Amino acid sequence: MTHRLLVTGIGTLLTGRIDAPIAEADAVLVEDGKVAAIGDASDLDGEGPVLDVNGATLAPGLVDDHVHPVLGDYTPRQHQANYLEGFVHGGVTTVISAGEVHTPGRPKDREGTKALAVLAAKSFRTVRPSGARVHAGALLLEEGLTEQDFRDLAVQGVHLVGEIGISGVQDPDTAAQMTAWAQAAGMTVTAHVGGKSVPTSRTIDAEFVVAVRPDVAAHVNGGPTATGIEDVERILVETDAYVELVHNGNVRAARDVATLVAERGELHRLLIGTDSPAGTGVVPLGVLRTLSWISALAGIPAPEALAAASGNTTTARRVAGGVIEVGAPADLIVTDAPDGSRADDFCGALAAGDTPAIAAVVVDGKVVVAKSRNTPPPKRVPRLPEG
Ligand SMILES: [Zn+2]
Repeated sequence: MTHRLLVTGIGTLLTGRIDAPIAEADAVLVEDGKVAAIGDASDLDGEGPVLDVNGATLAPGLVDDHVHPVLGDYTPRQHQANYLEGFVHGGVTTVISAGEVHTPGRPKDREGTKALAVLAAKSFRTVRPSGARVHAGALLLEEGLTEQDFRDLAVQGVHLVGEIGISGVQDPDTAAQMTAWAQAAGMTVTAHVGGKSVPTSRTIDAEFVVAVRPDVAAHVNGGPTATGIEDVERILVETDAYVELVHNGNVRAARDVATLVAERGELHRLLIGTDSPAGTGVVPLGVLRTLSWISALAGIPAPEALAAASGNTTTARRVAGGVIEVGAPADLIVTDAPDGSRADDFCGALAAGDTPAIAAVVVDGKVVVAKSRNTPPPKRVPRLPEG
């Protein structure tokens, strides 16, 4: 039997696609966990449960491009349980690992670092906190890894290389060689950018990124300490890397980077993450807050800002989700201006610098959050399907 959900009453439909961020439609039909049709409520088959969003905004579930998970929904870094579930209450339905660096006793030899990546990748395929998709098992580069290792790991489902600069390989020549091997095996590679995050990590500037050629230049607004804007400009000019902004960074640098990327007409290269857990803690609304920074402080229109935290990231990471289009996983958020905001809707709330309200979250076509425990209540309260 087909499992259906009809989403009606959509005030604004944001697609997560940077090249077409708004769709003219007031209804979305979901079948068997995937978006089956987008259009006018009168044209879509109304059989089955209905989620009436009551004029609120429907958007793809957010993607956090920078999390350091370990195993399960627990982080030893801040001794905190159920933090990923908390992210879902902040609208995040997909999480990208930047490396399982906080694993107690993390092995730093060749076999150990491979084993950790395989374990985390395979474990999180079945661990889905409140439905969230956690792409974990981001290989941390250590001396001695061979080209064959990257091929073998790819076969095991490892498709990410964690932040270069926080593990053993810190010299640019070795990092560049391993990056090329990883990319040839189909992996996407992330490099830490900016000041040291912990005493054993390395300060990384544009010179390193130009030499190593990662897919993603992580937290160019600092993780937590920002590099200079001239370094970010050099990365944009001399490489094809995506540039990532994180909540655990410098707010002023986030504004400056977003402004620069927009001026260059390259908003498709902008990604958003939290870099959690970090010394600043675990912030369940970190992605929403970073969106409000770039919208309110850098003037990035909310629909485009949202793409930086959804479709841009799934494109960069070559994973499913992050968009509302036919055939995509039905990972959706119902969002709105928070009650009491001077703004009237989600886009207005971001532009005003408010943290929007998450009114409901849908993963694989099923309502997983009916009322966010972390955001304020929305102005428009959706009517949920019965049962
Ligand atoms: Zn970092």
